[in-house]
Amino acid sequence: GNLFEQVQLAPPDPILGTALAYKADTSKDKMNLGVGAYRDDNEKPYPFKVVRKVESQIVNDHSIDKEYLPIDGLAQFNTAAQQLIFSKDSAAVKEGRVITSQAISGTGALRIGFEFLAKFYNREVLVSNPTWGNHHDIIKCSGLNFKQYRYYNPKNMSLDFNGMFTDISMAKPGSIVLLHACAHNPTGLDLTEDQWKRLAGLFKQNRLFPFFDSAYQGFATGDLNRDAYSIRLFTELGFQLIVTQSFAKNMGLYSDRIGAFHLVCANKETAAKCLSQLKLVIRPMYSNPPAHGARIATKILTDPALYNEWMEELSMVSKRIIDMRTALKNELVRLEVPGNWNHIVTQIGMFSYTGLTPEQCDILINKYHIYLLKNGRISMCGITTKNVGYLAAAIKDAVV
Ligand code: PMP
Repeated sequence: GNLFEQVQLAPPDPILGTALAYKADTSKDKMNLGVGAYRDDNEKPYPFKVVRKVESQIVNDHSIDKEYLPIDGLAQFNTAAQQLIFSKDSAAVKEGRVITSQAISGTGALRIGFEFLAKFYNREVLVSNPTWGNHHDIIKCSGLNFKQYRYYNPKNMSLDFNGMFTDISMAKPGSIVLLHACAHNPTGLDLTEDQWKRLAGLFKQNRLFPFFDSAYQGFATGDLNRDAYSIRLFTELGFQLIVTQSFAKNMGLYSDRIGAFHLVCANKETAAKCLSQLKLVIRPMYSNPPAHGARIATKILTDPALYNEWMEELSMVSKRIIDMRTALKNELVRLEVPGNWNHIVTQIGMFSYTGLTPEQCDILINKYHIYLLKNGRISMCGITTKNVGYLAAAIKDAVV
């Protein structure tokens, strides 16, 4: 008999599904505003030149073998990744309280993070409403439960900080709160430095556990240090916390699956025990991580000349995104599309949360071959100087 007859066809992933629909579309006007991957002004993927350069060095270096990495990955990578997010002179790092493991990009870091918490800190999790959809599924996989805190005010398309503060203040003391370190996905709305400080006060008072997801360091402002502000603030205030770090966007290493998991502990002794247990989480999951991306990132992070080349490319990339925000807003204003489109330029990072309704999104998709998420999120990276006019005209048709 058919052993799997009862298996139902699952819906495509809402984000990766848009990429497939875009690929299958034969229209010459089609636009891919779904998936969050950088594109140049010709809509082409952009592998960083510095990555290409380092890759050819690695390929030609025959002293590099194909042995397994340790369970927690390449040691030099872990140190470099730690310094990038916490800074070179972080007291917590110097005190040996921060444990770091290479991870299968940001998603893998989140996965081992929640598995670790489910085993050793089984509390309710709070996530922003909305958040990156995969957060919900990753938390559920670990067996933990999540609640939502307010984050977005659809009325004025802005951050609902008071709602956020109130909802988090009502969480059970000790709860885990998932925060986007910068460039919140999907809203593009971040807290100000003052709001982060007020939030830290609340976390202290209610003994809340901060879990920072950092997938866009360098993509929000173009400045790696400014984009790590929230994490460094909470670490300096003495919190025990988790950071999940991805190099998918800021080095363009999407398919190399390179990221890191960091846990800041109360002291060195506890840190050593936690690392030993983290290895027991990882070993049955995937044994040990792949080496290629870790080698690339390590070279870029530790060689000053390569680091500078990376900085230049990163600022070029983040600048193009900011330019496209201005271009889209100006087009919408020029075409006199009803509504206030200021949020397009004030939002931060790779995405814009347009405020378009699901029905308006359907018009863009079905009539104009413009692929975006049904919640109105567009990736700014798919917009170019050549197609921004087409997009603005299509939005006008959908809105009017
Ligand atoms: N967190 C957030 C908020 C993200 O937007 C993403 C990427 N879309 C990730 C984590 C993880 O991405 P990756 O696994 O490719 O590093």
